Amino acid sequence: MSIAENIAQVKANIARAAEAAGRDPNEILLVGATKMNDAARVREAIAAGLPCCGENRVQELLEKHEQGAYEGAELHFIGTLQKNKAKYLVGLVSLIHSVDSEGLMKEISRQAEKRGLVQDILLEINTGYEASKSGIAPEELPALLQKAGNYPGIRVRGLMTIPPICRAPEENLPYFRLLRQLFIDNGEKKYDNVHMDFMSMGMSGDYEAAIACGANMVRVGTAIFGQRHYPVGQN
Ligand SMILES: *Cc1c(COP(=O)(O)O)cnc(C)c1O
Repeated sequence: MSIAENIAQVKANIARAAEAAGRDPNEILLVGATKMNDAARVREAIAAGLPCCGENRVQELLEKHEQGAYEGAELHFIGTLQKNKAKYLVGLVSLIHSVDSEGLMKEISRQAEKRGLVQDILLEINTGYEASKSGIAPEELPALLQKAGNYPGIRVRGLMTIPPICRAPEENLPYFRLLRQLFIDNGEKKYDNVHMDFMSMGMSGDYEAAIACGANMVRVGTAIFGQRHYPVGQN
């Protein structure tokens, strides 16, 4: 299957899952997880209708950006972000999905203020309480949302999660439901610099289940680009 055929298939599945949940398919943004795909393949995906690219490594994003890989699409950062690399992303990406500490909010805000802009971010929640994963524990969310008001260079636009690796998509439902509950509960409160608009959850194996639970951003790599072939020693 070509990239174009895969994108058409994923979009059709998104539409079906949205309709089954009584939702408008147009409110769901397909974020293509473009890691390990070169600029030519990313351009091919955009030409085939991919509306948004999500990268998870800063260096790779900068190289491919330099090569014009993302022209015509939105660009998001979806990977773990080290504080000292925030300066490369602020203003270049329209959304950072993976903020999980006050220190990172503060640094993104500082870089954004320098550039005279406001950077949209999501807060990453470790819904499975996994030691190996980044993201804050669900109960830490209210305190971090409260802190957002101290940083005028950021705007929290919602929540993101990467659930534990599960064998079947329905095993992820509890994690997706937890994110939605946090989204609803905290969205009702009024925090400065917080607008609860987006729920980023669901990947190739489970985006339909995530949509059933309210996801309006899904991050899909393998189902669009095929299996990634990692060099030995990398994850
Ligand atoms: C790679 C990646 C994805 C996509 O994973 P697939 O299983 O290939 O669809 C989603 N989210 C993040 C943060 C990723 O790094």
